[in-house]
Amino acid sequence: MIRVGVAGWPVKHTRSPAIFAHWFERYGVDARYELIPVAPEDADSFFAELPAEWAGVNVTVPHKRTAAAHIKLEGAGARLGVANTLWRADGVVCGTSSDGPGFVASLDAAAPAWRDSNAPALILGAGGAALAIADALRATGCAVTVANRTLAKAESIAASTGAAAIPLTDLADAMAGCGVFINATTRGMAGIDPLDIDLSPLPASAVVADIVYNPLETALLAAARSRGLVAVDGLGMLLHQATLGFERWFGIKPEVDAALRAKVVATL
Ligand code: NAP
Repeated sequence: MIRVGVAGWPVKHTRSPAIFAHWFERYGVDARYELIPVAPEDADSFFAELPAEWAGVNVTVPHKRTAAAHIKLEGAGARLGVANTLWRADGVVCGTSSDGPGFVASLDAAAPAWRDSNAPALILGAGGAALAIADALRATGCAVTVANRTLAKAESIAASTGAAAIPLTDLADAMAGCGVFINATTRGMAGIDPLDIDLSPLPASAVVADIVYNPLETALLAAARSRGLVAVDGLGMLLHQATLGFERWFGIKPEVDAALRAKVVATL
């Protein structure tokens, strides 16, 4: 039996086992997806010599940078110095980050017209997820503006991705011309204050995306829908980012469909 899994600390909260269990059944793959707790003090040695029992691994917080330091990086992983998906090729452990491409794939699936607008995307937040999303949107040719409470972090993303950085005080002005508005902060997660933003400056054609997926319907998405805007939840990003590992490990690009969504929603 092929063994794959997710390495992190802690790893208990991850939805990945439910995603992979669905695809193993759907595609008849004889494999097991396991939780791999790796304590911070053990991370360097774990990734420096990925134990042979693992055909491939996903990597979650707090190890995405540590993993990247020990493997052959490709694509977004090489640009950003982070990895969330590791595989073996000709005896070499390779990896990349699928978070940003997962976000774009989710947007393409739920709101394909976003690509027609040619208007800049506006990302609220400047943490690891915002960086991955800014990079992936820039790779599509989209102009990107990053707004963040701590301006220096938005400026750092701008410097590495070619995005623009603005303070929160300029948010309403930037919203007025934006095609996709994205919440990439932790605001709105279960147990954390929801975002309270006036969406009225957004054009009627704007898409509003939240990468928070628990709860699935955040206050931001509810406000967007009540304004008649297309709203995209964070579950799509989570599901689409997982497809890369399955494809690299088993040679099949798996489908993100309603049955998979329903199974993962049941675990929230
Ligand atoms: P992170 O690195 O900790 O960044 C958090 C961001 O939120 C920072 O920009 C921070 O601003 C901002 N923030 C936190 N509290 C705030 C407040 N009260 N007011 C304004 N801004 C605030 O986190 P991350 O790893 O990027 O993750 C961000 C969110 O994305 C989390 O909810 C995570 O669960 C979600 N996520 C979802 C997926 C998915 O697949 N759907 C993937 C990855 C992450 P400062 O810089 O000023 O502190």
